[in-house]
Amino acid sequence: MQAVNTEDSDEHFMALALREAEKALALDEVPIGAVIVDAGGDILASASNRTIIDNDPTAHAEILALRMASAKIGNYRLTGSTLYTTIEPCVMCAGALVNARIERLVFGAHDERFGAVETKFRLCDSDVLNHRMEIVPGVLSDECRKLVKDFFRGKRNATDSHAQPTKACPVVLRTVDGLLQILAFHHPLTGTQLVKGTVEPGESAEEASLRELFEEAAIQAKRVVKDLGLWNSGVEGQVWSFQLCETHNLPDSWTHFANDGGGMEFSFFWHPLDAEPDETWDELFKNALYHIRESI
Ligand SMILES: [Zn+2]
Repeated sequence: MQAVNTEDSDEHFMALALREAEKALALDEVPIGAVIVDAGGDILASASNRTIIDNDPTAHAEILALRMASAKIGNYRLTGSTLYTTIEPCVMCAGALVNARIERLVFGAHDERFGAVETKFRLCDSDVLNHRMEIVPGVLSDECRKLVKDFFRGKRNATDSHAQPTKACPVVLRTVDGLLQILAFHHPLTGTQLVKGTVEPGESAEEASLRELFEEAAIQAKRVVKDLGLWNSGVEGQVWSFQLCETHNLPDSWTHFANDGGGMEFSFFWHPLDAEPDETWDELFKNALYHIRESI
């Protein structure tokens, strides 16, 4: 197929990549798809993520498509080609695109956590590497993002029906100038955190959330307005329950002397929900924050 108009053909090929992503979804793989098109507009390869089914950590859609396209043209360099992928490539794939001398990279949605093209690193147009490519982000981004988001939401719901929460995390939000902010605090020993505590025997996650909010932050919340679901934290078998709590008229910042660990001063502040957590954030709480963002 001859490319007529770049914008139209970008959407056309991204739609094909999305179809590949749907194939991954059918296999219960993270739904990401990729398509490679040569300079003349002919499709060289299309592939979807197969890491789990192949027991292969390198079996990302982009890598599989690169292998397929290279085999097809009998050259490890894909000079002049465009790679379409539904999600911003990771470090491994971005590096492979550079090695393959891909000319244009077109991707759908940004990957806030691992994106290596614009979000976390800039490997595809870095001055220190020997090849740079044209980057076109955001093509059919809503569709691409939705597939992955729905996939992980489905996974979480599957967890929900079995797991019992061991930790309760009261989520407190406010809106300032139209932007959502979440309550967080600096812990003197372990860095920036969200309020969180153990669900005691006989206590519901809701009750634990309201109690923890009072003990850790001195906030008397009226009630829980929404259950934001469970999260397998991956740490010590902890399953967290997020409970959105209703609060009113909280100050911009305050400190609270909590009884934890013999008594410590916690400094509370508001973190813009979409802002990247800085290096003071504890890794576990960073991941909890990402989970909350997706649940709201
Ligand atoms: Zn990858």
